[in-house]
Parts: sequence; structure tokens; C-alpha cells
Amino acid sequence: MSFKKRTIRDIPVDGRTILVRTDFNVPFDEKGDISDDFRIRASLPTIKYLLKRGCKVVIISHLGRPDGVKNPKFSLEKPASRLARLLGRPVRFVDDVKGERVYQAVRVAPKNSVIVLENLRFYSEEEANDSNFAKEVARSSRAEYFVQDGFGAAHRAHASTAAITQFLPSVAGLLLEKEYRFLSQITENPARPFVSILGGAKVSDKIQVVEKLAQKSDGVLVGGAMANTFLANIGVSVGSSKVEDGQKQTVENILNIAKKSGGEFILPKDVAVGESTASDSRRVYSIHEIPDGELALDIGDKTIDKFCDKIKNAKTVFWNGPMGYSENSVFSHGSARIALTLASNPQIVSIIGGGDTADFAHKWAGDGKMPFSHISTGGGAGLDLIAGKKLPGIENLLD
Ligand code: ADP
Ligand code: MG
Repeated sequence: MSFKKRTIRDIPVDGRTILVRTDFNVPFDEKGDISDDFRIRASLPTIKYLLKRGCKVVIISHLGRPDGVKNPKFSLEKPASRLARLLGRPVRFVDDVKGERVYQAVRVAPKNSVIVLENLRFYSEEEANDSNFAKEVARSSRAEYFVQDGFGAAHRAHASTAAITQFLPSVAGLLLEKEYRFLSQITENPARPFVSILGGAKVSDKIQVVEKLAQKSDGVLVGGAMANTFLANIGVSVGSSKVEDGQKQTVENILNIAKKSGGEFILPKDVAVGESTASDSRRVYSIHEIPDGELALDIGDKTIDKFCDKIKNAKTVFWNGPMGYSENSVFSHGSARIALTLASNPQIVSIIGGGDTADFAHKWAGDGKMPFSHISTGGGAGLDLIAGKKLPGIENLLD
């Protein structure tokens, strides 16, 4: 489906002050350094577009869950310095999101410059979608336009995704538009055969997405703990594997939907087991021989081959959810082979979504050229979009 919202390309941005909502909600390591700056990198096209046109770019974002309290642990100062490094130019940081200091900092900033403001969630008004707060943020930034580019937060109705659009003409940034195009393509008009790969922890989190994909896909390949839940509900004994209780009805519904759609719905025929998630040996069993007391922690070798065959013949692939307990490399084979198959078949439009799956794909790909068509920056937002839900961060923009 084409993107029906206005974007920064549709407005006269030249030399103006533009307020940009990004998603700088990045992970940190034990030392307190940014461990993955993928979301900051993803914001660069919009920021560079605006800088090229002489704008003052004022950036707002949230980081973590400080719950309305100022807490240096969740400051945007480090993401601001990382942005400076990535842009190769200075970035001013102001330790508030509204008020006189913000107003003055923007006033004295030269054209063609970037200012990053402090964490929106230091104010509880942000998550409360408070109009007065949104108005103050808009006014203190002195901006003439608001650009929504924080796709990862677009499924929330917060002050910086919803209320703010009452106070400034609001359009989409380039990342938001790109996310929408890739993710809506999945359910609207995927090049076929279209294969979905689903895994991860739970099915209950993702019922609507799984139903939608069961309806639209030519093949659904299920792995990870999600597969254990399916297997356990069709009478397979899965030992002590992670299984989600109370999902019998959900599992039946999904299998029915898949059956009606005429697509294939493929569960593992073998699994790699361990006595615990920390296990350092990988033993593969048919699903009918999973030993009591053991845990299915990855898809098995025959299943991996079968999944990869299906993937190779696809034109579009959407992947959400690791195929196993991939935090332990012994049980990351399934996920790694899927990544490899996608990466070595560049003719496939490969779209990866979900927080943990995106992390896995980034780590797997390393720093080289991105071998996938698109890795979504939005976990929940991406899944909501695929499920067909309307995202406040998109709906509120100008048509
Ligand atoms: P995403 O964030 O990509 O949507 P999820 O959050 O649903 O993915 O699932 C990721 C988690 O699922 C990971 O922590 C992974 O270890 C866990 N997981 C996947 N398969 C298994 C399994 N067989 N046993 C235990 N945990 C698993
Ligand atoms: Mg997750």
C-alpha cells in the first residue's frame, strides 16, 4: 500500500527549524557504553536531508523507562555524542526538552546545525500524551514543522507521537516512510512465493501477527519456543521445553486459518536439545523422541535444511523470532543458517522484525554491508503494523 502521509519531501524545509522525533532508545553494555547504535544510524538519512537544506534540526527521543523522573542513567547525552561522531560534526546537547534553556539554545544555534534535547520520558506527561507538555515542547523548540521519524515508538499514543501534532504541521521522516513501505508490503502485495519465519518466546504476544501471516503466506515456518507451544498442543511430548500454557485455542485457530489459506504451515520435525539453556552440547532428536527432562532449544538439522529449502525458493521472506535460545551460540545454528540463506540469496526481499531478531541479525551481519533488504527498527511497532493496527505515530501526520 502506498504511503498516504506527507513526508519531509513534501514541505518547504529550507533554512527552517525542524523538530524531529527520532528513536534513540539504544541498548547499553555493563560499562555504560552504547552497545548497538543501529537506531541512531537509521535516523541519519532524515537528519542529513535536513542539514543539506540548511535547517536547524532539533531532536527529541525517549530512552528506556525512567518513568517521569530525571535519571542520568537514561540521559540522551551519549546518543547525542554518538550522533555527532556518525555525522562528523558537532551536535549540541541541552539537558531539558522544553523551557527557556531549550528556546535560547535553538535561538543562538546557526543554520545547518543539530541540537539533541534530553529524554522525553523524564516527564511523566510524555507517556500520558499530555497536550500542554506537547505544546511547550513544540513552542520551546521554535520549530515550524514536526517530523516523525521514531518508528520504534509510533505504536504508542504519547505526547511526542500524538499530542504534538496538534501544535505543528507534522510529516513523516524518511525512516518512518521506509519502515512503512517494507512492512506494509508484507501483507499487501508481497512478491510470491511469500514465506514467513516465526519463532521467539511466546505466541500470545503475537497472536494477531501470526494469524495475519498464516492468512497471507504461501508458507509459514515455525521454530523457537513458539514451535514448542504448537507441538505440545498437538500432542507431541516436548520434555521440559519452554512451552506457553493456555494456548490450545490460539494454536487451533491459527492452524485453522493456515489450512483455509491453502499455505503450508511447517513445524519442526527435529530439535536440538540440552539439559539447560547453558548447555554446551547440542544433541539432535526427532520431535517424537525428545527425552523427558530435556529442553528443545533450537530447531534440528533436518528442520534447518527444510526451512532453508523453502526460503531459497521464496521471493519475499519475513522473519520474526529467533529459531532457538540463540543467546547461547550452541543453540543459534537454526537462526544463523536462516540468516546465511537470506544473505546468500540477494534476489529475496528479506524483511526482519522484532527486537531480539533484529539484534541477532545485526550481530550476525557485523559491520559489513547489510545483507538483508530491511531490518526494522521497531519491535512492537513493526508487529502492530503487520497485524493491521493503526499506529498513532503515523495516523496523526498530515495526509
Ligand atoms: P523478538 O523480540 O524478535 O520478537 P521474542 O522476544 O519473541 O523475539 O523471542 C526472543 C527470545 O525467545 C529470546 O530470548 C530467545 O532465547 C527465546 N527463545 C527462542 N527459542 C527458544 C527456546 N526453544 N527455548 C527457550 N527460549 C527460546
Ligand atoms: Mg523480544
